[in-house]
Amino acid sequence: MLERATSAVTETVEVESLDVACDGGDGALGHPRVWLHIEHQTHDVVCPYCSRRYVLKEGAVVGGH
Ligand SMILES: [Zn+2]
Repeated sequence: MLERATSAVTETVEVESLDVACDGGDGALGHPRVWLHIEHQTHDVVCPYCSRRYVLKEGAVVGGH
């Protein structure tokens, strides 16, 4: 059984890709897997299901050649 922080606190996850698959993980926040697309301007996206915040990892190569 996983002990989680208060559900009001959103988790921030660093990712290296603009496309992120989120299923909320195990437990109460779990949800069907959805694909999220990180915004170019803000370099982050918030999952509408579990409110997790995905942030583009600093130094990640995006749209490069
Ligand atoms: Zn989610």
